[in-house]
Amino acid sequence: MTAARYRCTACGNLTRFDVTESSTTRSYHHYSVAGELLVEDVEVLASEIADVRCRWCGTGSNVIAVGPDNSNASDDSTPLDDAGPENGTGSPADSPPAE
Ligand SMILES: [Zn+2]
Repeated sequence: MTAARYRCTACGNLTRFDVTESSTTRSYHHYSVAGELLVEDVEVLASEIADVRCRWCGTGSNVIAVGPDNSNASDDSTPLDDAGPENGTGSPADSPPAE
């Protein structure tokens, strides 16, 4: 099972998130004679992540989704909230294309 991972770009949190998820599941409810329920064979028919918040910041505006393959912790994942460019090459904000 490949679960999505998240990262908060504000505080660097990788492990604590409040995830609001709505899912539709079908499962086999197996009752014993005494009426005790045992849920088996849970099948997820549909699942949708509604909201992911950083546990520490209390907001999801800085949380980005990172793939389960996190072997190279590069910084090329697209943030949900653009933090702006970091490389200042001296060009103004809106430089017209040279002709
Ligand atoms: Zn955070």
